[in-house]
Amino acid sequence: MDQTDRPDSQDLIPEDKPASQSGRRTFLQRSSAGLAAALATGAAGTAWAAGPPAAAANSVKLPLIADPRTEQKEETPDANLPPDDRIGYAIVGLGHLALDQILPALSNCKYSRVAALVSGDRNKALKIAHQYGVREADIYDYQSFERLADNSRVQVVYIVLPNGMHKEFTLRAAKIGKHVLCEKPMATSVADCQAMIDACSKNNRKLMVAYRSQYEPMDRMIAKMAKENKLGPLREFIAGNSQNQSGPSQWRLNKALAGGGALPDIGLYALNAARFFSGEEPYEVSASLTQPAADPRFKEVEESVHFIMRFPSGFTATCMASYGCHESRFFRLQGTDGWAEMDPAFGYNGLRMRYGMLVDGKSANTEITIDPNNQFAREIDHMSLCVINDKIPHTPGEEGLQDQRIMEAIYESARTARVVKISKPQASTRGPDPEEETF
Ligand code: NDP
Repeated sequence: MDQTDRPDSQDLIPEDKPASQSGRRTFLQRSSAGLAAALATGAAGTAWAAGPPAAAANSVKLPLIADPRTEQKEETPDANLPPDDRIGYAIVGLGHLALDQILPALSNCKYSRVAALVSGDRNKALKIAHQYGVREADIYDYQSFERLADNSRVQVVYIVLPNGMHKEFTLRAAKIGKHVLCEKPMATSVADCQAMIDACSKNNRKLMVAYRSQYEPMDRMIAKMAKENKLGPLREFIAGNSQNQSGPSQWRLNKALAGGGALPDIGLYALNAARFFSGEEPYEVSASLTQPAADPRFKEVEESVHFIMRFPSGFTATCMASYGCHESRFFRLQGTDGWAEMDPAFGYNGLRMRYGMLVDGKSANTEITIDPNNQFAREIDHMSLCVINDKIPHTPGEEGLQDQRIMEAIYESARTARVVKISKPQASTRGPDPEEETF
């Protein structure tokens, strides 16, 4: 189970927190005077002060952290769309993520609204529908899913089901003419990911994989720092994502429904972050798995995974994920001239970012906290803007497919105890770069 959605997780938004609180971001910075001065006057601040590059042809506006020295303004200049003009979402699968994160986040969206619910549990769906103002007529089950075709209030189907069901519901959604926002991991095999891309393409529907960290402000700031060479050429990425998985009945411990254990559920965050920050694709991977025979939880899937990805520039990512350790989520990205880290990383709330670099020959560290509460809302609104403006999402199906290719190489490496080569994808797997003010 992805720790970030556990009811006892510190990451959960308290139920009594008003929606408006998470709409306004707070920005706290503890900086050494030397670094602050250098940023204000010197080379380190120059690139941030420069105007954004020209927008790509298929770009969509998304908030960007422009300058870490100043309190952030409200990111999206456009006014909220009136509720009836917003993109309507059918939420498919009312589990922890849908109930604790996605539905509350929709209340924070500017271009998106919940329009329908799809659930195998009608009583639960009725209760949730009442809570979020969804009409009873807009509740479906998995058998009546195709009736969504006649519901003009729904433009996007948001698939929040166990991983092994993502392909089926993407294909069914595309066939009835709905766009798809699909939770990570995209699916459980490369073939399924490709089938999802093909189905959406054939039906001229958009497909986005919900890589929320790529829409989270601090992750985006680090990607921007790396792209602008603030850290120098990147050399190392070190990341860990752990939790002590509970309950043998969890679908996450079932190979068919999950696709694997710690790797696709939580190791994927580290894998995707290394690609996102470096902007490179790994050419080889070596890996090992731990699957303790005596532990009944891990009869079908791995407890933990360790993998090293090598990239063409010489950049290396060393990652681990475990279902057998106390909750811990962190990464550090190291370049020749600086580093950036998050600890905790990958979660919904309480994220912390630090970075360090030389200033006047002295090592200076800076800590930044940007409230990332609305990362789900940003992600969902991005999908909506892509639908409204007919643009390619920043994290389309190709991004999920590439991660799946790498995960399959990781499993192969662990199985054969060999380094496994990974061919380069034919084209970029991402929409326009998040460095740009619009994407
Ligand atoms: P849950 O187990 O909490 O919920 C899954 C829901 O899917 C169930 O509540 C149920 O909804 C429905 N479902 C339909 N068939 C089955 C089945 N055979 N077994 C179990 N559930 C079934 O999972 P999560 O909400 O934690 O995860 C859902 C997806 O979201 C996964 O792909 C996961 O990887 C992803 N995720 C992403 C996160 C992120 O941060 N982006 C964090 C956590 C999860 P109902 O009762 O309504 O039918």
